Amino acid sequence: MSEHPTIGDTLEQTVDRHPERDAIVYPRKDQRWTYAEFDERVSRLANALLEAGIEKGDRVATVLYNGSEMALTVYACAKIGAVFTPLNFRLPAGEIEYIVTDAEAEMVLFESATAEAIAGARPTLETVDEYVFIDDDREAVPDYASGFYDLLESGAADRPDVRVDEDDVYAFIYTSGTTGRPKGVVHEHRDMVEHNLLCIAEGKMTRDDVGLSVMPLYHCAELHCNLFPRIHRGATSVIHHEFDPAAALEAVENHGVTLLFAAPTAWNALSMTAAETDVDTSSLRLGLYGAAPMPEQVLENCMEHLCEDYLQAYGMTEIGPAGVFQPPEDQLSKQGTAGLPGLNHELRIVEPDAPPDREVEPGEIGEILIASPCTMREYWNRPEATERSLREADGTTWYYTGDLGYRDEDGYLTVVDRKDDMIVSGGENIYPAEVEDVLFAHDAVEEAAVVGEPDEEWGELVVAYVVADDGIGATELDSFLLESDRLADFKRPRTYYFVDELPKNPSGKIQKFTLREEAANLEPEAETVA
Ligand code: ATP
Ligand code: MG
Repeated sequence: MSEHPTIGDTLEQTVDRHPERDAIVYPRKDQRWTYAEFDERVSRLANALLEAGIEKGDRVATVLYNGSEMALTVYACAKIGAVFTPLNFRLPAGEIEYIVTDAEAEMVLFESATAEAIAGARPTLETVDEYVFIDDDREAVPDYASGFYDLLESGAADRPDVRVDEDDVYAFIYTSGTTGRPKGVVHEHRDMVEHNLLCIAEGKMTRDDVGLSVMPLYHCAELHCNLFPRIHRGATSVIHHEFDPAAALEAVENHGVTLLFAAPTAWNALSMTAAETDVDTSSLRLGLYGAAPMPEQVLENCMEHLCEDYLQAYGMTEIGPAGVFQPPEDQLSKQGTAGLPGLNHELRIVEPDAPPDREVEPGEIGEILIASPCTMREYWNRPEATERSLREADGTTWYYTGDLGYRDEDGYLTVVDRKDDMIVSGGENIYPAEVEDVLFAHDAVEEAAVVGEPDEEWGELVVAYVVADDGIGATELDSFLLESDRLADFKRPRTYYFVDELPKNPSGKIQKFTLREEAANLEPEAETVA
């Protein structure tokens, strides 16, 4: 180990401190490994990858649900300097082709649940030499793949002899693809080790913590904010293959889970399930969440039925992802905000796209910039996007988030909307999220997305795509907005498109760029407000 550790070193340091503490518990396969046992398996897999021809710098892609195999793979790659490239397990063949080809991956790991998509994509995956299948059932291993557990057993147990440095690439993590095609975020080992320390500190994590991973490990929120810091700290990780609220609550009781990360919608499901069962969740000390603020009602339900303290993180794949934190002590007094910059982080709000010194006043909306020791090196193969997003000023690199927000007098950040989604109509700025919030308040509205439609006279017109109960029309929704008294006249949509569904990325976020580009393909029924 050099004086600056890599992700592989963070595991080995923990083994050195607590070889006998539990590292990984995977109930689905009755696996429970101490740190020494986990590390030995990681080394076996790392040696097997080297034997299979994977070299430092090669990309190893996974299309896997959660499992101990995912944890083994990411640390095995880290030990030999291979570039871990996790893909969303819900991606269809075409999207897998896009990412695997963009990353020029040499190896793809998959499992029964993703086998169909891989079989569909395989003829187009020209860079891939080797497929590895999670061989729960040896009969099911396709003839073009080798078995994961066969591979694991074949590898030598000693730690592989490959030098990996802090500024070597640890992973390509693809963004969610909400605002365009997913971009490969290039993270170095150093970024992630810093990010581990940040999450350990902000979550006050100790070796006695037991975390439950129910959110997908292919996403950096679960992987980097939860699994990684736990392993660095020496805490225990219980892994569920996928999210099932009742099973998650049972696991909390059975394993004495203290830390649980979930998206706000998943917290909602957990609190509703908890309200109907008598599972003992008293071991939970902290609920973690991100992606959006927790709606007040959901927070209250969670506090009543699950645990009292919640930690919100705001950020994005490019910075690790966590950068701004709302700690439990602020959850009620600063409800709706994302909190304050994390340790070693700086936050600025500037006029959109303006240089980092063009800060706006408190309360004024601008683009959110973050300076973080965990910021990516670059976007893979996208120099222009990198140049737009990372800008230097006085020796500091600022990441331009593309999100709009403001800080209050105490410095707390509120995230308003995405910069590209902002509508400018007749010279007025309109933030779609504000309009959508009021539309959601109508009982018949299931989903709503507000976007700008080009218009010669006004620049853009406010239009709404709505999934609603039959019989609801534009006139009724318009009157509802008017009566709510929450929106200025110019913010009310001029046209409503009633549709059966909205285009979403595989994580469930609405893709407004497709709404803007491909509105015609939806064949929507337009209703203009009289
Ligand atoms: P792409 O970059 O491909 O369009 P994406 O931005 O959705 O996809 P992620 O990195 O997974 O990909 O998501 C980060 C985004 O999620 C942020 O830029 C922000 O818009 C939103 N976000 C994350 N955390 C919060 C939070 N606590 N509150 C509000 N918004 C959040
Ligand atoms: Mg993004």
